[in-house]
Amino acid sequence: MFCSIGKEKKDLEVKKEFNSKGDLLDIEIHGLVGFTEDQKKFFLKAMELKKIVDNSQNYKFKILDSNMTQKQGRSNKEVYAHWRSGFSNYEKMVDQDIDLFVTLYDSPRKGTLGYTSMRTGKIYTNRAVLDHYMRGFDGEFTIPLCGLVGHISHEYMHSVGYIHRGFWSYKRNSVPYVFGRQARSLAEKVVKGEKLVPLFGSS
Ligand SMILES: [Zn+2]
Repeated sequence: MFCSIGKEKKDLEVKKEFNSKGDLLDIEIHGLVGFTEDQKKFFLKAMELKKIVDNSQNYKFKILDSNMTQKQGRSNKEVYAHWRSGFSNYEKMVDQDIDLFVTLYDSPRKGTLGYTSMRTGKIYTNRAVLDHYMRGFDGEFTIPLCGLVGHISHEYMHSVGYIHRGFWSYKRNSVPYVFGRQARSLAEKVVKGEKLVPLFGSS
């Protein structure tokens, strides 16, 4: 259940200005490396679900209301706006896109879900973990997708520039963990048939 990022100290700065114009946040997939066709299908379906969560009032309120730590001096609102700007270390353009480049790898460490390169912003997902998530996937919006939604939401915040360190009780409230945990829990609500309230009147 652990992500291996966060041991190194790093100065991170936002290279460009960002703001939240209130537009919908999209997901742009730049590369899926090492995926089979079935794994790709699963990934794309999970990202459809993630988009519903990302563009919901529910997610916004959960993030703004949380006791997030390791925010690099930003308020919850600023972290939220930073995320929605589309800025990440993978693609520094402030284009309101979540730009994803994900590679599957075989990890010798069992409980590790994956990691993100802070330099390139690329995400690496443990192949065994993806296979574990996929069990029971039938092509529809069902529970198996929710683990991946949480994982990608967590890793993407590393790509944006946030880290986690310290004891678990402190670390679990860091930006990546809060974004990941809340995304997963809202995704579970969606697959159970609960309607989220869309941001800005979108569907
Ligand atoms: Zn992490």
